[in-house]
Amino acid sequence: MSIFLSEKPLYDVIVIGAGPAGLTAGMYCASMGFKTLVIEGSQPSRLQLAEQIHNYPGFPDGVSGFELLNRMRIQTLKAGAEFRREDVVAVDLLSPVKTVITRSESITAFTVIIAIGLGKRKLNIEGEDRFLGLGISYCALCDGPLYKDKTIALVSDEFPGDLLSLSRLASKIYFIPLNPLESISGLPGNVEVLNVKIKAITGVNRVEGLRITRNGIEETLQVDGVFISTRNIPFTSIIAKSGVEIDERGCIKVGKDMATNIEGVYAAGDCTCGGMQVAVAVGQGAVAAINAMAYIHQQRKELKSIIV
Ligand SMILES: Cc1cc2nc3c(=O)[nH]c(=O)nc-3n(C[C@H](O)[C@H](O)[C@H](O)COP(=O)(O)OP(=O)(O)OC[C@H]3O[C@@H](n4cnc5c(N)ncnc54)[C@H](O)[C@@H]3O)c2cc1C
Repeated sequence: MSIFLSEKPLYDVIVIGAGPAGLTAGMYCASMGFKTLVIEGSQPSRLQLAEQIHNYPGFPDGVSGFELLNRMRIQTLKAGAEFRREDVVAVDLLSPVKTVITRSESITAFTVIIAIGLGKRKLNIEGEDRFLGLGISYCALCDGPLYKDKTIALVSDEFPGDLLSLSRLASKIYFIPLNPLESISGLPGNVEVLNVKIKAITGVNRVEGLRITRNGIEETLQVDGVFISTRNIPFTSIIAKSGVEIDERGCIKVGKDMATNIEGVYAAGDCTCGGMQVAVAVGQGAVAAINAMAYIHQQRKELKSIIV
């Protein structure tokens, strides 16, 4: 493809997002000498909310999400990446030079790696924020093993795939659907379906129970933990208008090389809905970076005689 640039972009790579996917991508690019900017938004990385991570390699005794993220951040800084703390409000990705717009400036680059993560629909009830990581989990795969032989509640807005895996671990599960479900049969014996309204998550230092109303009468259900399995809310609204393809769930569509449908634009981590795990986000960030660097090499070859 022959391209003409009126000016050289400010950066080789802009990474939007400073969770494990964005930090890994930034670290790879910066350490290979590419001028790299990582933009971290006001929304915290989901890793920051994780009390303990037990399934990330290299930490046999577990590590707090905060510490793991901080270590990754330091490594990316040491590799030479620049950081800016601002929300990206718009992007212009279709031309060879990509523009990323924050509230205060427009920044240009040859490539953009989108690693903006994903949100979860909250229940918005008393105790939900207070006990996050203290008995409340949004991730059965991550935290299920902590509830072996315990009593838990699973609250969900659809039939959760997590129910069967949790039923193999917990001794008792109260499954509380948020929306009416068609009749469910064949559930394991330790699962009890409760059609109740949840008023609050209760406890002193961690989750101890759920305050519910059943047939208009208030009662407290004793549980050791509450799993909230609600639909994802992608943060992809800024991306949606850019031409990057997004599926019906709001997840960014990527190939095996983490490339989107737009040349020079890659995505990694939870925003691609490809695993929702730190190890997956890290791996995808690395793949996105390697392919973004190859793309820049190619661009530079083509541009050599045009820009200095
Ligand atoms: C309570 C909890 C426990 C968990 N436990 C585990 C576990 O045990 N094991 C495991 O593997 N995984 C666990 N996870 C999941 C894991 O944290 C995520 O899979 C991982 O953080 C995804 O990384 P990411 O980089 O894709 O996104 P995130 O870590 O969510 O980072 C997203 C980044 O994008 C930025 N951003 C968003 N919008 C914008 C914008 N407009 N402009 C600029 N920046 C923006 C945010 O500021 C943030 O820096 C847990 C998650 C939670 C919430």
